[in-house]
Amino acid sequence: MTKEQVLKKYFGYDKFRPLQADIIDTILAKQDCMVLMPTGGGKSICFQVPALVMEGITLVISPLIALMQDQVQSLKANGVPAAFMNSTLSMVELRTIEEQCKSGELKLLYISPEKLFSNNYLGFIKTLNVNQIAIDESHCVSNWGHDFRPEYIQLKVLKEAFPSVPMVALTATADKVTRKDILTQLGIPDAQIFISSFDRPNLSLAVLPGRNRLKIIHEFIAKRPYQSGIIYCLSRKNTEEVAEGLRKLGLRAMHYHAGVDAQTRSEVQVAFIKDEIQVIVATIAFGMGIDKSNVRFVIHYSLPSNVESYYQEIGRAGRDGMKSDTLLFYSFGDIITRKEMIQKSELPDEMKEVQFAKLDRMKQYAESEICRRRILLSYFNEEAQNDCGNCDVCHNPPKKFDATIFAQKALSAVARAEEKVAMGLLIDILRGAQNRAIYERGYQNLKTFGVGKELKYEEWADYITQLLNSGVIDIAYDERHALKLNSVSWQVLKGERKVDLVRFEAYDVKRARLDEE
Ligand code: ADP
Ligand code: ZN
Repeated sequence: MTKEQVLKKYFGYDKFRPLQADIIDTILAKQDCMVLMPTGGGKSICFQVPALVMEGITLVISPLIALMQDQVQSLKANGVPAAFMNSTLSMVELRTIEEQCKSGELKLLYISPEKLFSNNYLGFIKTLNVNQIAIDESHCVSNWGHDFRPEYIQLKVLKEAFPSVPMVALTATADKVTRKDILTQLGIPDAQIFISSFDRPNLSLAVLPGRNRLKIIHEFIAKRPYQSGIIYCLSRKNTEEVAEGLRKLGLRAMHYHAGVDAQTRSEVQVAFIKDEIQVIVATIAFGMGIDKSNVRFVIHYSLPSNVESYYQEIGRAGRDGMKSDTLLFYSFGDIITRKEMIQKSELPDEMKEVQFAKLDRMKQYAESEICRRRILLSYFNEEAQNDCGNCDVCHNPPKKFDATIFAQKALSAVARAEEKVAMGLLIDILRGAQNRAIYERGYQNLKTFGVGKELKYEEWADYITQLLNSGVIDIAYDERHALKLNSVSWQVLKGERKVDLVRFEAYDVKRARLDEE
């Protein structure tokens, strides 16, 4: 069968979405690839269709048991012979699936990394006619990602075991550094990368100061009596308190977190999907693999730990493409709590540093006065042509001034310092600071040394952050946060493009606006 016939026969669709056909052709040509698509973008089809076109069996590595079970169930419902192997199965069940693998009747085998590396399952898999290896949620293999899973590290051996079998790494969330790392970790450095647009124009974006949160949420939901949504909280205890508070206000709300027993969790999920519960108040445990396309709002009760998580979480709203709303509460208290959480975590120091840097980007997003969608897209290295018109900043735009000269000074200093300096040192160069870091590297001899004396340190920090947020400059977390030039930077340097920024506002003024409840 051709890929089009498979799509029609097993999935009932007439057309591929953008990129799907190209990705499938790449896999059918036995080449490795990486697929970046937002949640709901249609990643699964990209490996499920080739699995059915080719002879043999496709191996799908998936970290989440619930997700694996859902996918296998819906494949079976469509008449696709598929099965999963994970720790929930009995010996007898495992034996049955092994037999089905051997006889060649299965087309897709989902397996968790734990299972794959236990009892020499890999040895068993090697005896099969494997035609493709799909790594779902592949960002879990990277230290730079936000959901690192140590058991994913071992997946390296797959490419060694099956050098000529095409491998496809899929994820809904990876910035540039994470992408590069995923390919290295999986041993497929030359994989072709497919990135579909991350833009979700149907989601409105808004940030509010973290005051009177419960009251504001109540008013927000009261305006939407027939719509359901998710509220993300920072801690388990927090989800319980907020759900309780909303119930007292007369809303059908339930909490959900990993500490709730499995039975209750699945009841809550089902009730939510059937619209019997209007609001789920959850930790990040909720959402992965929840197939509810008409979630109409996602609220963040507190600041998420990084932009990737935030984007993935708001992405659970409006998967049907209909207009949906998102709301983020932000306070200085949230930042402090998040910092403490990172500090207390068991991560090695250099990883903590990455987490702090990512938290900082999240904070900048919340504080920014640039179109929020522009920031999100630039975070994923996508260039937004226009402001979106569907975020709070667009609805209430701040006054801007022509800051092209400042941008050019900063960018040319980045270029002269050979893209090796982080923001602090760059500002020292611009302001002509006399300190050891400067002299050690000889930066006092750069042509750009001291060209930005007219601005205070804080002003430069604010403007460079705005440049970063609007995609005029890039940052490399894996190179000690060195600032990097991109194609937009060069347009600005050559005078082909103007840069407008919001006038610097002193820290205490911002702070007064944001003060805690
Ligand atoms: P992801 O894994 O990227 O979150 P899925 O693969 O679950 O997304 O797909 C999301 C939804 O889009 C599913 O309901 C899927 O059946 C549907 N879908 C995927 N590809 C197509 C297509 N070519 N035409 C129509 N619907 C599609
Ligand atoms: Zn906007």
